[in-house]
Amino acid sequence: MKLGVFELTDCGGCALNFLFLYERLFDVLEFYEIEEFHMTTSLEGRHFDVGLVTGTVSSHRDLEVLREARNRSDYLIALGTCATHGCLQASVELPLKEKLKAVYGDEGNPMRALDPKPIVEYVTVDLAIPGCPYDKNELFQALIDIAKGIEPVRPDYPVCLECKLNEYECVLVKKGLPCLGPITLGGCNAACPRSGLGCIGCRGPLPGEVNPAGEFEVLKGLGYDEEYIMRKFKTFARWEP
Ligand code: SF4
Ligand code: SF4
Repeated sequence: MKLGVFELTDCGGCALNFLFLYERLFDVLEFYEIEEFHMTTSLEGRHFDVGLVTGTVSSHRDLEVLREARNRSDYLIALGTCATHGCLQASVELPLKEKLKAVYGDEGNPMRALDPKPIVEYVTVDLAIPGCPYDKNELFQALIDIAKGIEPVRPDYPVCLECKLNEYECVLVKKGLPCLGPITLGGCNAACPRSGLGCIGCRGPLPGEVNPAGEFEVLKGLGYDEEYIMRKFKTFARWEP
């Protein structure tokens, strides 16, 4: 099978994280030939069984790359929170063009910048794997499943569930840390609470029966001010509670 990795505007972490599979990359290469990936090499492949896209659409160039990736890939995966929810750059307030104009004047947009948006705003994807960066085990399993003709499992539970299954101490209850685990999509195996830190919500909001208003009240009750909580909620997903 042919694999392509396409990178739009981002920090590079999600593309690099793929290489951090280390020896398990050889298991992936049992099934896939990497045809396009600028961090390694590009064979100018024309068709991909699976395309991975990282980053946000932040320029016209990004949009062209994304459309090419969609048109040339049978199965397209939005990889990482930039691609699935917009991540940090999409949480900037005010339209980008206004900011560029304020600094550079009327000629201030030579790179034809667009307001950063996740790729799911522009094209249909077959699978979204969020996370900043995503859990590489999740990507590994998804690629192996697809190669074997199995539809990858999509987590549908909050980070809290994984935290409790692992018996980690609740940092929200015990330390009063602002943990967004109750309203954040699981799949990271509660990586931050495992280290004694609050979940920062990098996998985006849990769809469905989630209660951000309840979380908001809990954090307010712990003494966090409203603006701080709103900023925390919006950091990775511009989420209005
Ligand atoms: S999701 Fe996070 S790690 Fe991945 S490219 Fe975006 S900012 Fe970097
Ligand atoms: S530490 Fe966070 S993720 Fe874990 S149980 Fe408490 S609130 Fe949920």
